[in-house]
Amino acid sequence: MKAPFDRPDIEKLIGAMTLKEKVGQLTMLSGELVQTGPASAPVTSDAIKNGEVGSLLNLVGPDRIRDAQRQAVEGSRLKIPLLFSLDVLFGLRTIFPIPLGESAAFDPALWEATARVAAQECAVEGIDLTFAPMIDIARDPRWGRTLEGPGEDPLVGRRVAQAKVRGYQMTDLAAPTAIAATAKHLAGYGAVRAGREYASVDMSERLLHEVYLPPFKAAVEAGVACIMPAFIDLNGTPMSIHTRLLRRLVRERWGFEGVMVSDWSSVAELLVHGVAADLAEAAALALNAGVDIDMMGKGAYFDGLPEALDRGLVTMTTIDESVRRVLLLKLRLGLFDNPYRRCGSPEAVAAVRVQTARRALAREAARKSIVLPTNLENTLPLKKSLRSLAIIGPFGDLAGGTSGPDAVQRIATFVDQVKAAFPKAAISVAAGSEVERLSATGLEVARQDARRSEVLLLCLGETMEMAGEASSRDYPGIPEPQQDLARALLGTGKPVVVLLFSGRPLILPSWLAERAKAILAVWHPGCEAAGAIVDVLSGSHNPDGRLSMSWPADVGQIPIFFAERPTGRPRLENEHFSSKYLDVPNEPRFSFGHGLSYTTFLLTNPRATKWTIAPGETTEILVDIKNTGAMAGESTVFLFIRDVVSSITRPSLELKDFTKVALAPGETKTVRFILSTDQLCFLGPDLEPLLEPGAFNIYVGPSASPDRLQMLALRVRPASIETAQNRA
Ligand code: BGC
Repeated sequence: MKAPFDRPDIEKLIGAMTLKEKVGQLTMLSGELVQTGPASAPVTSDAIKNGEVGSLLNLVGPDRIRDAQRQAVEGSRLKIPLLFSLDVLFGLRTIFPIPLGESAAFDPALWEATARVAAQECAVEGIDLTFAPMIDIARDPRWGRTLEGPGEDPLVGRRVAQAKVRGYQMTDLAAPTAIAATAKHLAGYGAVRAGREYASVDMSERLLHEVYLPPFKAAVEAGVACIMPAFIDLNGTPMSIHTRLLRRLVRERWGFEGVMVSDWSSVAELLVHGVAADLAEAAALALNAGVDIDMMGKGAYFDGLPEALDRGLVTMTTIDESVRRVLLLKLRLGLFDNPYRRCGSPEAVAAVRVQTARRALAREAARKSIVLPTNLENTLPLKKSLRSLAIIGPFGDLAGGTSGPDAVQRIATFVDQVKAAFPKAAISVAAGSEVERLSATGLEVARQDARRSEVLLLCLGETMEMAGEASSRDYPGIPEPQQDLARALLGTGKPVVVLLFSGRPLILPSWLAERAKAILAVWHPGCEAAGAIVDVLSGSHNPDGRLSMSWPADVGQIPIFFAERPTGRPRLENEHFSSKYLDVPNEPRFSFGHGLSYTTFLLTNPRATKWTIAPGETTEILVDIKNTGAMAGESTVFLFIRDVVSSITRPSLELKDFTKVALAPGETKTVRFILSTDQLCFLGPDLEPLLEPGAFNIYVGPSASPDRLQMLALRVRPASIETAQNRA
């Protein structure tokens, strides 16, 4: 196809633009086919033709996108192509597990591969830009958006950020299947007060820089095209106008040259925050802070910026800088060469959709995300000879995935998969209760099914809608009616295996956690849920997922995470004046990194190639791992450190690396981590990296649970005599 444009000279183009056309480029409106924010008026074709809008979100379908694009490139004066964007958090057509689930795979290659598939699907359906990855660290499962992110740890967040940016963008945004990624939501959104959505955030600069910012820095280093500041105010300054972080840190220090796009109407919401008196002020504050695009801003940029210019609140130079960044992104995405380049023909779209490799990857991702927190008496995997299985609970349909048109069909998909794996088993299905409402007759049917069955597969949890944006929960547990169902079924004395569906860590009652024979955290596993779950139930896949967030034992422990700083009065059972609760333990129900396998692994002989290193040097940390069970499996090994004496208290455990090892029964391998003194630095009093020589404890183990860790002691030598004296 002949390119309808010559590559524009961006400066010439900016020179030719009216102010209205400039603020149009800085305006993003909704195509309204998907609702991801408060209702609003959809974009009109007049607005496109008049150059009043530069990008659209939530318009889906290559034909519609092509139509809208045609209006821009044929109907508008300067023929600048539109940019089309969408939230594609866990796939467009091939639906992968929710990101929190995927993070449990601890597998960067998988994280990249699923983003790649999502990008391929977007790139043939007209989407140029996705609002992903979401890399907000979350330590409070009341916050519903834990579903979208990488969990509690900044290192995991960094690795997810890098893998996802590579997967979406490849190395060149103009590559045929590349799309632009957005790192969101900068920063601290995961720490909203008491887990309540959109509430404000107060946190120390240290916490912000140590925990919440590193994934964003990693995304910038990986070349992410866009960044979205969060809705929230951070220590009193709404992120959309946080000049110190957006401009000074991210743009000037980290060297981010891409586009900053506001979150949905967050510029207009500055009035509600009470930091701007009108839209002109709000627009000026956001633009001056570095926000280039106003998403769904109720005219904040479109009407507000011209007025702000008149009032001397912004300069044309600043407006031009943002316009330049937006046009450059369009140029990098190849839109000036061919504005329809991502609008595939129906045949091209169909060809992408039918590729079975995608389904295989979705199944692989789903089963690798499944975590096995408990498995009493090796109840799982279920025996091939199983004679009868009762599938009970309101989530039986979710076990069938997200692909079938209705619940009945989804359950049928799941039952088919179960039958294929357990050909001798008679299978019954009963909801037993609704998600949040008891059903007396349902309960009775479930009881009868239970009596007739050898094993009960109890499908419990929360729906997709109970987590995600605007879905904070005061008590993130299993709704009461489902607990009643579980109690009744445990009462039958039959072995109960729980399939737990959730978008967050759930608080489990002790009686359930302890009396269920096994629990599988399956999250929301995506379109290949059925196959993946059955692979795990039958043992054709040995579960290897690990929790990327601690699961609290009770709500009062929240926020709970492994990287706590030590107290001067560690918990002592018999010491009243020690750090503990009177009514619940300090420990989570399940630790970060926890996850059982159908085999067992033994870690032995942790050692270092050098026990003392000088600043700038590295050492290798080695540990042998043996599969001591009867089944092949994969284990994740974590490397944590503790700076023993430091001028600022350091967390008792800091994650520095992780790796996965596949082992045949009886096989032993050596795991190798390279540890550099850069990884032993912490942020000093001025928040600059600081290495303090002395002793460091290095821990290797299968989770952050202290009793599972093996320690070795490392020393860092002072760089020179002077450094040693400074320290003394
Ligand atoms: C969310 C963003 C999302 C945007 C566009 C907002 O409500 O906070 O994460 O990208 O909507 O859908």
